[in-house]
Amino acid sequence: MSKLFGQSISQGFAKALDQVAAPAIKKAVEKILARQGTIEQIAATAERAVEQFSHDELGIPRELRYVDEFAFFDDYLRLAYETGGMSQGRGWCSHWWQHRSARFRVRSMWQAYEALAVKDPAKCDEVFLRTIGDHHMDRLTGERSPMYACQTVHQPSKPLESAPIEEDAA
Ligand SMILES: [Zn+2]
Repeated sequence: MSKLFGQSISQGFAKALDQVAAPAIKKAVEKILARQGTIEQIAATAERAVEQFSHDELGIPRELRYVDEFAFFDDYLRLAYETGGMSQGRGWCSHWWQHRSARFRVRSMWQAYEALAVKDPAKCDEVFLRTIGDHHMDRLTGERSPMYACQTVHQPSKPLESAPIEEDAA
């Protein structure tokens, strides 16, 4: 088809299209607005856009879902990874925060979670649990856990040994 007539053809249909589309669009919008939670969703989207703008354009730090790794542990991880009574002592220590490697992993998980929450708020829980939480929590429970020695009482864990680096090592 020649492009020469494109604009004229569009103009020819414009009035008819508008007559058909205007009421159809109005009806479709009303239908969406009538769905439960739509208004709240629009408000949340607007709020996210404002947050995005204030972060990207003005450099204002984002509001975190959890203030630090301790709040993340108490209000999220502890609930997401509750265990049966028998497995409670197998590898986990109630003084986890005294084990540097456990604290390091919990902190890393918290930071990764906050980044995911910004990127995709609707899917962040599922993606976090499947790709991050399951991996690290498997390492923090069971026989490979750095807290495995704390079966009955907290036992400090030790960093991996390392001899002084020799001069010709590099
Ligand atoms: Zn311990």
